[in-house]
Amino acid sequence: MQAAIIEAPGDIRVGTVPDPTPTGGEIVVRVGACGVCGTDLHIADGHLPAAQYPIVPGHELAGEVVAVARDVSHVREGDRVAIDPSLYCGHCRFCRVGRGNLCENYNAVGVTVPGGAAEYVALPARNAYVVPETLSYQRAALIEPLSCAVHGMHVLSARMGDSFLIVGAGTMGLMLLQLALRGNASKVAVADLNTERLHRAHRLGASSITTDLSSPLEDADLGFDCVIDATGVPGAIEAAFDMVKRGGKLLVFGVAPPESRVSIPPFRIYNDEITVLGSMAVLNSYAPAVELMVSGAFDADALLTETRSLDEYPAALDMVRQGRGVKTQVLPGGPGSS
Ligand SMILES: [Zn+2]
Ligand SMILES: [Zn+2]
Repeated sequence: MQAAIIEAPGDIRVGTVPDPTPTGGEIVVRVGACGVCGTDLHIADGHLPAAQYPIVPGHELAGEVVAVARDVSHVREGDRVAIDPSLYCGHCRFCRVGRGNLCENYNAVGVTVPGGAAEYVALPARNAYVVPETLSYQRAALIEPLSCAVHGMHVLSARMGDSFLIVGAGTMGLMLLQLALRGNASKVAVADLNTERLHRAHRLGASSITTDLSSPLEDADLGFDCVIDATGVPGAIEAAFDMVKRGGKLLVFGVAPPESRVSIPPFRIYNDEITVLGSMAVLNSYAPAVELMVSGAFDADALLTETRSLDEYPAALDMVRQGRGVKTQVLPGGPGSS
């Protein structure tokens, strides 16, 4: 079969690898759509310490089940499935207290084991969620990033009527915007340097948009109850902190370089009782994300802007690097299979 392969950091190609077969507890999925995101860039660049090379990337995937191991019962050939890529060990100190996303033996489809940037992928059946015929593979492949946003909102646990500021209007920022508006937010301001993305945020219901956090937002008032950084850019995180209202919260959602540092005033954390939170990947949030996507509560089409064929995977990565559009996906079965 054809697959994208990151042989080593900086060495990406599309080539032929053996077809996968399901071993115990596994299924094989014919991939309909597979998203490309910043995490894939980090893997391609060698900036994700957990990544194992060579790797077939792709952790945001959906497709059709084409083979099942004999001991699998809840998924059948022909089912349409969306995949939670998390492979928690289940027995480490973190897994045993219900924090599998912090697993000491971290593994994930498309990060440490072969992923969805391929015609087929074998993975544990327990990671597959059956979705209805009416949900396109492209929308189903957005459930994984949505589940990360849902986890972020769980961590943030906003109060009814909270004001929000979201810094970064890429896929994750626009997902968090939609979840905040559907949840407790009274208003959601959005900041980004990319005006095309800001206009998309405005169309999705942002109360105000800005390219410059140093000039006061009209609805900033005393700041925002909940501020989310969805950029991972140290300077943006510092600016985000400055926008937190007294008694408010900052959620660090974006992935900053591991060695980076930010400067924030501890006096304000103390004196203004500011809470700084982190949110990493998926935790008990995939099933709720399936519900949000299947019910139509979430506008997926506003984010699905770019598609490429599997053999254009390196070009798809470049599109993400350049920040073109919002979500880029590869469609290994061609556009008709999505
Ligand atoms: Zn991703
Ligand atoms: Zn574990």
